[in-house]
Amino acid sequence: MKIEEGKVVFLNFVLTDEKGEILEDTREVGDFSYIHGLGDFIPKVEEVLEGKTKGFESKIVVEPAEGYGDYSEELIYEMPKSDFEGFDDIYVGLDFQAETEEGVIPLSIVEITDETIIADGNHPFAGKTITFELKVSDVREATEEELEHGHVHTEGHCH
Ligand code: ZN
Repeated sequence: MKIEEGKVVFLNFVLTDEKGEILEDTREVGDFSYIHGLGDFIPKVEEVLEGKTKGFESKIVVEPAEGYGDYSEELIYEMPKSDFEGFDDIYVGLDFQAETEEGVIPLSIVEITDETIIADGNHPFAGKTITFELKVSDVREATEEELEHGHVHTEGHCH
């Protein structure tokens, strides 16, 4: 089956940054999957995969501008600790969503001081040139429900 719009694509890959450091390895976290052609995955990678089939292998280098964008200091937020009263546990690395001038964005706590919490809204891979060494492990039709939701359901479950 060829990869085209509306197909669920399963990939295994090792993702490295420009220093060769491993950012993600699907052998550890399980295959990555996405619905092709919805603009959910990196456009450059989707382009390479278009029309390919199970077993296809490639090494794809993605510059920041083609991937997760440049690192922006404007996406560093300092907020009072009192904003976090509802949280059970606050620690560096905690991901959460917050209402900002840019709308609701995902943030990650990078520093905790006595009074404030500093959070970073940059994607962890922002500013990095990343290299995918990937292999297509499977391709299947998306179900109607998956297309409606715009994401892959694992073993029939919506998550
Ligand atoms: Zn769903």
